[in-house]
Amino acid sequence: MKTMKKKHGEKSPTKGARIITLKELGPQLPLGVLGPDGSQVRDIELKTWNFKAERKLSRTMENVEGTADPATYVTYVLSELCPSLGMIGHSSNEAKKVTPGMVRTMVESMYMGDVWYAYVWLRREAVGNEMTLTPLCKTCRKEFSFVANLDTIEVRVGDQVEDFYWEYKMKRPFSVRGKEVETITMGPPRWSVCQKMIENPTDASVAFETTKAGIYYLNGDHSRRAVVLDSDLDEMHKVDITGIASASNGKHLGANMLLEISKEEHTCSAGHRNDYTMAIDWSYQSFFADSSK
Ligand SMILES: [Zn+2]
Repeated sequence: MKTMKKKHGEKSPTKGARIITLKELGPQLPLGVLGPDGSQVRDIELKTWNFKAERKLSRTMENVEGTADPATYVTYVLSELCPSLGMIGHSSNEAKKVTPGMVRTMVESMYMGDVWYAYVWLRREAVGNEMTLTPLCKTCRKEFSFVANLDTIEVRVGDQVEDFYWEYKMKRPFSVRGKEVETITMGPPRWSVCQKMIENPTDASVAFETTKAGIYYLNGDHSRRAVVLDSDLDEMHKVDITGIASASNGKHLGANMLLEISKEEHTCSAGHRNDYTMAIDWSYQSFFADSSK
């Protein structure tokens, strides 16, 4: 029987970006790494996290302690415990030859949404899907505890990077090296942008770095990836800085890192009911703490 060989770069039909739960997606990256045959490599393979792995990881963490930002910790945890994360074309056997240093380099070039997802998946597999949150009651300001279920986290997945593109029309066109920019095509930023954000964590610089990392194309020209310098972006008007931020809502790749607590699900010790939206505390120490405390 003759089989049609797929040409490099030829895309399979796509269903577009869609939202499923973490439980439904399982050990798969929401988008993945582009493989040599044009398909996305998505498998997340985890090492057994036993005492041996724990000792090795804590040695690594001690070596970088004080010198590393929280995003670097995420990179290190994943490179120690996900032996083939994002490694193109590695079967489990080949993955044994892959060193944590190689995985670290790969992680840095992956999509931010894929890296976050792998980190949350690792946590679910290592210590369970339940996570105890301790918000302050909005009414009496007393702390109460609530057990969130990581399995219900919503994840935005797609078949190809184009599924995550979206267009933004500038209200005040800005100029990139003398050329007016009327529209920009936005897409998913890479993990490396996280480190930049943490080096300078003001709201303005986070907005600046995520905007810069998210710009893929200018004026609808998809033949060439846009190169936007800091000095170009410095000229972007406030109306578009906020415009892009609000237009980007719901267009992210990967897990929604906000946990929702509805007033039907809990009361504080005094019986008050409120709705809460909480960011997951993903710092290593608390993220991998015992979930049943
Ligand atoms: Zn209360």
